Amino acid sequence: MKPARFAYDAPPTLAAALALLAEHRDDAKVVAGGQSLAPMLNMRLVQPARLIDINGLPELASVTRDGDRLVVGALMRHADLARDPIVAAQCPMLACAAGTIGHYAIRQRGTLGGSLAHADPAAQLPLVALALDAEIEVASAAGRRRIPARDFFVSILATALAPDELIVAVRFPVRGPREGWSFRLFSRRAGDFALAAVAASLALSADGALAALRLAAGGLGPVPLRVDQLSGLATGVPMSRERAAAAARAVGAAAEIEENERVPADYRRELLAALAQDALDEALERAR
Ligand SMILES: Cc1cc2nc3c(=O)[nH]c(=O)nc-3n(C[C@H](O)[C@H](O)[C@H](O)COP(=O)(O)OP(=O)(O)OC[C@H]3O[C@@H](n4cnc5c(N)ncnc54)[C@H](O)[C@@H]3O)c2cc1C
Repeated sequence: MKPARFAYDAPPTLAAALALLAEHRDDAKVVAGGQSLAPMLNMRLVQPARLIDINGLPELASVTRDGDRLVVGALMRHADLARDPIVAAQCPMLACAAGTIGHYAIRQRGTLGGSLAHADPAAQLPLVALALDAEIEVASAAGRRRIPARDFFVSILATALAPDELIVAVRFPVRGPREGWSFRLFSRRAGDFALAAVAASLALSADGALAALRLAAGGLGPVPLRVDQLSGLATGVPMSRERAAAAARAVGAAAEIEENERVPADYRRELLAALAQDALDEALERAR
């Protein structure tokens, strides 16, 4: 199938892009990498009257440091995130997760902003944003605001973005001292969307006690979920592999998993426990 007819704009500036979005709102769709939008256009699942192509806005493809935040532009391609030395050093979970997305060709075109705005429940980058308490910086002709990742993902393919808003950047916390991380996923074939995925970040104090924990899982329901509160792990308690294993079992047992006729919930529950154990082990190793 081919897409329905649409008008096409390639604004030369961010201000021009935002003005077009303000004018056309729900009648328009932004196109970035096109890796999710183009198939939806071709299948006529979406039929916008106008596409606003943001690929001519290089200011959206930068990586800068702002205090303890790494500010990553919305147009950064998955492949660039995976190979950028600053991202690898300062937000290694993001670099690692981006390198696991789809196939080579998809990673060359797909973007951070596109992945977050598309909000596929099994996608890697929404999970990383949630796990790390990232903030999504959005702009409209009326101004800018920052949306915590916890409030951004509303349901399957639905976010807190207003129709006239554009994601311009995502603010990730820079990896701190004695902070370990891990990103683990399982898919049936290399390059497929994950059946389940876990992102873990933990910090240790000088005496080896848990100072902070962030744990999130994807592929279980309509949006990625924070599951650290299910783990039974408390800060101030010395960390060990045994504690990590018990925490992973607790998360697997307690997580809310949506029934899905393709992949039974019990199977994903076991997957979640196994991935959580691997992720916590690896994060602990990296924190030491
Ligand atoms: C075969 C295949 C396999 C894939 N496998 C995976 C996978 O394993 N894991 C995974 O996570 N993804 C996967 N993807 C999706 C891929 O990562 C997409 O690149 C990503 O989901 C969307 O990014 P994009 O830049 O291509 O966005 P587009 O397709 O251009 O846009 C997607 C949506 O986001 C909106 N949008 C884009 N940019 C912005 C912005 N800056 N502000 C506001 N709205 C915006 C668009 O209007 C549209 O609604 C796969 C895609 C394909 C085709």
